[in-house]
Amino acid sequence: MADVRRPFRQNLYDLDLPTLQALLESWGEAPYRARQLWEWLYIHLADRFEQMSNLPRSLREKLAAETAIGAPERIASQLSRSGETRKDLLRLADGETIEVVLMHYDQRHTACISSQAGCPLGCRFCATGQSGFQRDLSAGEIVAQALHVARQLQATGKRLSNVVMMGMGEPLLNYDAALTAIRRLIDPQGFRLGQRHVTLSTAGIVPGIDRLADEGLQITLAVSLHAATDDLRDQLLPINRRYPLDALFAACYRYCARGGRRISFEWALIDGVNDSPQQAQALAARLQGITAHVNLIPLNPTPAYPGQPSSPQAVQAFSAVLERLHVPHTVRTRRGIEIEAGCGQLRRQSPRPGAPLQKD
Ligand code: SF4
Repeated sequence: MADVRRPFRQNLYDLDLPTLQALLESWGEAPYRARQLWEWLYIHLADRFEQMSNLPRSLREKLAAETAIGAPERIASQLSRSGETRKDLLRLADGETIEVVLMHYDQRHTACISSQAGCPLGCRFCATGQSGFQRDLSAGEIVAQALHVARQLQATGKRLSNVVMMGMGEPLLNYDAALTAIRRLIDPQGFRLGQRHVTLSTAGIVPGIDRLADEGLQITLAVSLHAATDDLRDQLLPINRRYPLDALFAACYRYCARGGRRISFEWALIDGVNDSPQQAQALAARLQGITAHVNLIPLNPTPAYPGQPSSPQAVQAFSAVLERLHVPHTVRTRRGIEIEAGCGQLRRQSPRPGAPLQKD
């Protein structure tokens, strides 16, 4: 439904299909028109009403006068040296800005999207957290980021294959909008993204994990863990003081028990901070009884945190402990670091002077 807080034309991406049908019927339009509009928005990825060639001109004019296709405005883009990662700074209808990242893998094209402008959780090593919190995004603003990336891919004959809600913000603190956005993206009559190709990442909001477990979705839950003892996690992720590890892992057990899929645990390896064999052992102990996969990635640098990525030797040693203790895990390669497009590097500002820019 319309977000009454902001005095802008109705963002069509904020409407579900029944609401869209009710709106068009209130204008005297036939019921099938809403379905046609829906297909233009989510299958053909139209971002202008003129493209909607099977809608009568009068309806297109009415839509243009009363509603908006909430495609965000691209302010700046940066492309990594390899060309595999692209980051766009987007401006929303009220002028707020967010970043979205497109990552190309062999056969996959993944969008990393944001759920909030900024983030209230203030994880020490995260540029988003360092820059504070502005506001929640609406469901339509979240969906629009995936569509923005899908349009880029469409122009080169490719299709968006994966969406990870791992950008700016904590999705489980903007639960209703985040889940509405996910349901919109997996709608079999709309954007048709496979549920198993969607990942939602949380810093550990226990009530949100419990709610998610009851949604009956097949998406992947990723938990940003980064420490396996409360004293260390309290320092790195302040949310741990509210939901300490015992509570977090109890929620993870419940999530698995209710039929949730394997949980991914994210671990940014920070030199001399959380890369010790003791932390690896504590992690393995915590994961007993949980269907889990651990993703290890050396820390991505951010301006306000002095920590450094672990050395390759330390990464290898940490991985070896997990291997010995039979913890499924993957050492991930850092991507897009030079354009600050890696995990924890997203901000709400223009590229820094000297940063590599995309040439269109
Ligand atoms: S890591 Fe995630 S939860 Fe933590 S401050 Fe950054 S965006 Fe927020």
